[in-house]
Amino acid sequence: MSVLIFIDQTDGHIKKASLEALSYGAKIAEQTGDVAEGVVLSKTNEDLASLGEYGIKKIHQVDNDQLQQFDAQVYTKIIAQVADATGAKVIVFSNNSSGKSLAPRVAVRLKAGLISGAVALPDTSSGFTVKKNVFSGKAFATVSVNTEIKVISLNVNSYTIAAVGGTAEVIPFNATTEAPKVKVISSSKTLGSISLTEAEVVVSAGRGLKGPENWAMVEELATSLGAALACSRPVADSNWRPHNEHVGQTGVAIAPNLYIAVGISGAIQHLAGVNRSKVIVVINKDGEAPFFKAADYGIVGDAFEIIPKFTQAVKKLKGIA
Ligand SMILES: Cc1cc2nc3c(=O)[nH]c(=O)nc-3n(C[C@H](O)[C@H](O)[C@H](O)COP(=O)(O)OP(=O)(O)OC[C@H]3O[C@@H](n4cnc5c(N)ncnc54)[C@H](O)[C@@H]3O)c2cc1C
Repeated sequence: MSVLIFIDQTDGHIKKASLEALSYGAKIAEQTGDVAEGVVLSKTNEDLASLGEYGIKKIHQVDNDQLQQFDAQVYTKIIAQVADATGAKVIVFSNNSSGKSLAPRVAVRLKAGLISGAVALPDTSSGFTVKKNVFSGKAFATVSVNTEIKVISLNVNSYTIAAVGGTAEVIPFNATTEAPKVKVISSSKTLGSISLTEAEVVVSAGRGLKGPENWAMVEELATSLGAALACSRPVADSNWRPHNEHVGQTGVAIAPNLYIAVGISGAIQHLAGVNRSKVIVVINKDGEAPFFKAADYGIVGDAFEIIPKFTQAVKKLKGIA
């Protein structure tokens, strides 16, 4: 029996979210006395054997040029084949964009119970119960799964990557693949050195910044912190910032370790996309702004005075000129 973990990648690089899923899956295997195994589709630029560092013993690699382009239907069928072959009873995905499309499909195919958005290890002492986020991260639910096979998608930044040492055996897997039903003709990538969904620190700004010409100071703060940039929806709607930076209910949902919100009121639709952040810092000149209720730390004051001082303090701390 195995706990099978899907190893997600972009342009041949394993995503940080996958390392979390590997650590999580390896810990489940330790709890249930099973073997943790990974599945990776297509080639990678990384040394797969070194992923044994996170506690997995084997990695099944389906090396097929057709799989370079992500296709949820094609991937689902292959993951189900690997799950069958390895006798997987728990299959773990990261709850990122690929995991969100794969986990339910794999669950249907394997007639498995699905827990999406898990935030903690399952309790396997009696049955199989898992804590998960509900209502866009505003509440938790503990759910019990009774099916023989369980599919779990783990919320990004919910489980600490644990290096336990070891090397994984990389095994080629001969899967039956089929031609995709949908052909991607072209794709364009958003530029930006730090991916918003993978970022540990995010600096986000809203309409309180008054206009796009004032973003230089936010960018400088983000650069000094090594943070990704985000914004509220009206900022993107007004074309002050690109839409890929818009976070919230209708934008990107993120869960960084630190979220710094500058001049954002904290409307419920904004919070829905950021309230899984571990630490929230709010800077707003209105002490009654709703965001302060969700904040771990708050500064009441004018962003135009605070941000330059904040940036200087960060630079000084980091020894950046
Ligand atoms: C269906 C629906 C979906 C939506 N989805 C999203 C979403 O995904 N993401 C999202 O963000 N919004 C979303 N919204 C919009 C949301 O309701 C709010 O309107 C929006 O989040 C407000 O953006 P804001 O906080 O930047 O602007 P405002 O509400 O205008 O707030 C600006 C804030 O800046 C502060 N401020 C002003 N000047 C300064 C200064 N000098 N220094 C410090 N602070 C200052 C003000 O006190 C105020 O709190 C959605 C709305 C709907 C109806």
